[in-house]
Amino acid sequence: MKKYDCIVIGGGPAGLSATLTLGRARRKIALFDNGTNRNRVTQESHGFLTRDGIKPQQFKNIAIKELESYPSVSVLNETVMGVNKDDQHDLFLVHTSNNQSYITEKILLATGIQEEFSLTQIRQYYGKSLFSCPYCDGWELRDKPLAIIAENDEHINHLTKLVFNWSKDLIVFTNGHQLSNKVQNDFKSKKIKVYTAVIKNLHGNHGYLESVELETGENILRSGGFVVPSFYRPNKFAKQLKCQVDENGGMITDDAGRTTESGVYIAGETEKAGPSSLMIAAADGNKAAFSINMDITLDRF
Ligand SMILES: Cc1cc2nc3c(=O)[nH]c(=O)nc-3n(C[C@H](O)[C@H](O)[C@H](O)COP(=O)(O)OP(=O)(O)OC[C@H]3O[C@@H](n4cnc5c(N)ncnc54)[C@H](O)[C@@H]3O)c2cc1C
Repeated sequence: MKKYDCIVIGGGPAGLSATLTLGRARRKIALFDNGTNRNRVTQESHGFLTRDGIKPQQFKNIAIKELESYPSVSVLNETVMGVNKDDQHDLFLVHTSNNQSYITEKILLATGIQEEFSLTQIRQYYGKSLFSCPYCDGWELRDKPLAIIAENDEHINHLTKLVFNWSKDLIVFTNGHQLSNKVQNDFKSKKIKVYTAVIKNLHGNHGYLESVELETGENILRSGGFVVPSFYRPNKFAKQLKCQVDENGGMITDDAGRTTESGVYIAGETEKAGPSSLMIAAADGNKAAFSINMDITLDRF
């Protein structure tokens, strides 16, 4: 079985950027990706310097093309199913969905996060007219009549004030949550209406929101908006490898990608199990690659 210097699980910006740096450092790398990047539902990505407005798949294709210049890098379209540590030899075994196993000295977890919504209908509009990050998609929704769909005081307060920068025409939908008087009064002063009734349905066409229907029978016209998903790690690799987490579920690291387990590194959104951006994830991957390369260098020198 071929032995790699490092196996990178996840070909989002974090994993791709780490692989580029490690390939350029002449390391033997296998990058596994199964095409479940979080932004696959969106039409365009914004805010990544030199790539503003690029399609997510095109972003990925360019990055993979760049990796072709480095002969020690392999990119494999396979799902990683499990990772075991071979303590005796200080190596890791990586198992994939087509029953292959691979050996590596170091492992980088860059598998991102996924989101879920308490209101399942949001999924139909997510990435086209409903978004979670105003920095990513606020510009495209500027000055439009927008919905803010959120279900606790903290989220409603934070998101509504933030989005107000991009559009003053906001209506807040709390889906049954009773918003505090303080927040309601703040919003009233900015002419932001709040509906606390339970949402019955969302209506629109091909992912483009047109109205929010409430259980009271009201149907309020809106042409997009922002929502607050819950985020989770899609796998248990870090747990299986016994990496320690903090009280918020974030991985404990040295801020340079090293986890508490020797040889196991982490980068991108999976590290804190919370959302960031393409640029931040790519920078995390670059940073983790420096650590991986330095550790391999010192191990072998
Ligand atoms: C609707 C939407 C719009 C967005 N718009 C923007 C934007 O405009 N600008 C911006 O900066 N950010 C945007 N983001 C956020 C951005 O997508 C993330 O910040 C970024 O993708 C995080 O990078 P990552 O590498 O940590 O994870 P991801 O990009 O999610 O990559 C993780 C990778 O791991 C792979 N993977 C997972 N499990 C396995 C496994 N078991 N085996 C093999 N491979 C696996 C997946 O295939 C995936 O490619 C948007 C997100 C969403 C949801």
